[in-house]
Amino acid sequence: MGRKFFVGGNWKCNGTTEEVKKIVSMLNGAEVPSGDIVEVVVSPPFVFLPLVKNSLRPEFHVAAQNCWVKKGGAFTGEVSAEMLVNLEIPWVILGHSERRLILNEANEFVGEKVAYALSQGLKVIACIGETLEQRESGSTMDVVAAQTKAIAALVSNWANVVLAYEPVWAIGTGKVATPAQAQEVHCELRKWLKANVSDEVAATTRIIYGGSVNGGNCKELAGQPDVDGFLVGGASLKPEFVDILKSATVKSA
Ligand code: PEP
Repeated sequence: MGRKFFVGGNWKCNGTTEEVKKIVSMLNGAEVPSGDIVEVVVSPPFVFLPLVKNSLRPEFHVAAQNCWVKKGGAFTGEVSAEMLVNLEIPWVILGHSERRLILNEANEFVGEKVAYALSQGLKVIACIGETLEQRESGSTMDVVAAQTKAIAALVSNWANVVLAYEPVWAIGTGKVATPAQAQEVHCELRKWLKANVSDEVAATTRIIYGGSVNGGNCKELAGQPDVDGFLVGGASLKPEFVDILKSATVKSA
């Protein structure tokens, strides 16, 4: 099916110039599986994007953590998709739960952002996921289907989309989804794509898992048939990120 393993590192709102340089130098010196086995994208805060892009090994790429919903202009504090393209930043993370929940980004708004970023030539890591309350009330699939539907309503070409399933209760909590929990939702999402978009999009779109992935739990998660990689927060700032990159070999073993 050719879904290349994908690992994103979301550095969130962390780092000084010195710390960023240290992480880049750790990544540049790391022995990792080849680019045929794993696609690696790290996402520093906006202000460090040029530094990281210009100093990171060329086979690793960078992502912004957000961008504005449409063309730039009088939107104080925002960064437009056009600006990212101008800086040759290839990827952007959109719809992260920290933005959905803290900044009230609604499903439709995230869908619009994804569609606009794609229209400008960016590749998108689109995040979805349920809260603990939603999981406990049995509505996980309804929630992630509604989030995906808002994207699918505006996007016809999925070639440049990676879907990141990130249960909110697992993000930054140390409480990782079990491999079975992750597989169940990824498999259902693939079925949703098949039923609502197309067989081809379902078969080729990478669905990655995020939420307390670390060097110790990554291999078992990576072994799940519908887990095509990870979006990693806390552990992406640490040397164990390299172990997570290495878990890609589970797929080719
Ligand atoms: C994230 O913020 O996307 C994330 C998965 O964070 P963590 O790995 O720290 O849970």
